[in-house]
Amino acid sequence: MKIGWIGTGIMGRSMASHVQKAGHELYLYNRTKSKADDLIRRGGTWCDTPVDVAGNASIVFTMVGFPYDVEEVYLGEKGILSIKNTCRIVVDMTTSKPSLAKTIADVASERGIASLDAPVSGGDIGARDATLAIMAGGDEKTYDEVLPLFQLMGKTISYMGTAGAGQHTKMCNQILIAGTIIGVCESLLYAGRAGLDEQSVINIIGKGAASSWSINNLGPRIVQGNYDPGFFVEHFIKDMGIALQEAEAIGLSLPGLALVHQLYVAVKAQGHGRMGTQALMLALKKMNGE
Ligand code: NAP
Repeated sequence: MKIGWIGTGIMGRSMASHVQKAGHELYLYNRTKSKADDLIRRGGTWCDTPVDVAGNASIVFTMVGFPYDVEEVYLGEKGILSIKNTCRIVVDMTTSKPSLAKTIADVASERGIASLDAPVSGGDIGARDATLAIMAGGDEKTYDEVLPLFQLMGKTISYMGTAGAGQHTKMCNQILIAGTIIGVCESLLYAGRAGLDEQSVINIIGKGAASSWSINNLGPRIVQGNYDPGFFVEHFIKDMGIALQEAEAIGLSLPGLALVHQLYVAVKAQGHGRMGTQALMLALKKMNGE
């Protein structure tokens, strides 16, 4: 199939490569062209704008950064939906706002195009190993059609409901991640202060009831002092901001999420916005005089 792919960063590059390896023809666009070089070398075709991608492909996937990037790529002057009847289906896999997913679905449908919101979970490792969890919203028939392509990128894939349901599910994911990452950091901070070997602590508690993706994957990076991004602090702040706004709109108080959000705002203010989310440890260490 002719597949469009917009956004070839940490996640998008790996995800697109699985689609390419399965034999599909890729039409590519990214803000920084060099990040698509690998995919172009392996036979992908560069396009100068999102609408050019859509003009060449039947299904277009997007994996950009923030909701304003999603807006630009879909609804901007040279956006995918700037003209009628380009591609048949668009799939936004960025973590973005449920309300924007609904707007895109409406505009796409006016242009004769079907759309899905299908954010993912599983991190840089899940993207690399094609083991992502993919949570989709939109028309169910469209989901059934795209499912074989999702199966190239992920292991656990679910249809969650109408447009926006994928993004709402991803917010549930991020609320839970916020709770686990602060637990991981505080647990390892305590381990260090108590004189324990932190990696040995991870090896045992990561197998019991306290097990989580974060302790087993981000814990060792913290122990090694590796704060390189798998998942950017500034993207997590974006996600928690969306979840807090959505929660307020439905009259929900989420004090745990609000606390972790504030701590991450401090991590960013300390200059660590482009580090990985495990950099929460740096802010907690600072608070504790370490
Ligand atoms: P990333 O490395 O910043 O990738 C985003 C890519 O999209 C970048 O290459 C960026 O271009 C490109 N882009 C942004 N705006 C664009 C625009 N208007 N037009 C064209 N290209 C544009 O981030 P990522 O880690 O892959 O994350 C992507 C999305 O997935 C985010 O919404 C994030 O929250 C979500 N997510 C991330 C993870 C993770 O563990 N990393 C896990 C689940 C979900 P530049 O190269 O010029 O910056």
